[in-house]
Amino acid sequence: THFGFRDVPLGEKQTLVNDVFHSVASRYDLMNDLMSGGLHRVWKDIMINTLNPPKSDAPFALLDVAGGTGDISFRAAKRAGSGFHATVCDINGDMLEVGRQRALKQYLDDKVSFVEGNAEKLAFPDRSFDAYTIAFGIRNVPQIELALAEAHRVLKHGGRFLCLEFSTVEMPGLDKLYDLFSFNVIPQLGRAVTGDAESYRYLVESIRQFPRPSAYAEMISAAGFSRVSWQTLSGGIVALHSGWRL
Ligand code: SAM
Repeated sequence: THFGFRDVPLGEKQTLVNDVFHSVASRYDLMNDLMSGGLHRVWKDIMINTLNPPKSDAPFALLDVAGGTGDISFRAAKRAGSGFHATVCDINGDMLEVGRQRALKQYLDDKVSFVEGNAEKLAFPDRSFDAYTIAFGIRNVPQIELALAEAHRVLKHGGRFLCLEFSTVEMPGLDKLYDLFSFNVIPQLGRAVTGDAESYRYLVESIRQFPRPSAYAEMISAAGFSRVSWQTLSGGIVALHSGWRL
């Protein structure tokens, strides 16, 4: 069956996305490892190295949007100093609940808090965070421009925006392999582990729809960010974008 994601009206896209993550929340962390062969850990570590949160007691507030089960925030909290605090913001209460349980288990519940919210309309004051991260989240947001404007609004001057997202594989050879993997292996794996192939078909489709790194960089600049740059990882499977509120 073809997943007609392209034809979904903007207003219904979020409902679709919410269903996807509702259906996979309890198996989400396991699926990440299976689908990426553990590579998502490497990509997330690169994001945290780039973020480089201070190891001192200097206050540092991170907002981790579409933070889901908390991976990015936990990784940052573990290498940061005592002044660090992360707020995981996600539209899906089920994903956040898994995150809260993980925080308790890792004794990180004082360093990482969980808040339900929409990336397109954040309930935080202007200029309240030192950094904003969004990992594998922006492509799920129906109106990317709104999310970028909100990211800019809530960052302090000198604050940093970092976005990790699936990108476009253009390496000859790898692209064919990647297509095979995306359209066959991923939905099958999704069916086997979560009983839900359709959700994973949506995920693959949403990756295909996402703008190229250069076009996305232009959107970040248009939202007001300075010194916008990006790097591609693993042959373009993933891109890491960076920008500053100056
Ligand atoms: N950042 C986590 C990670 O890297 O493991 C989770 C990424 S998960 C692929 C995408 C997340 O985006 C889901 O938890 C979903 O609920 C969230 N999401 C989708 N639309 C959103 C929105 N409009 N605002 C905030 N979060 C959203």
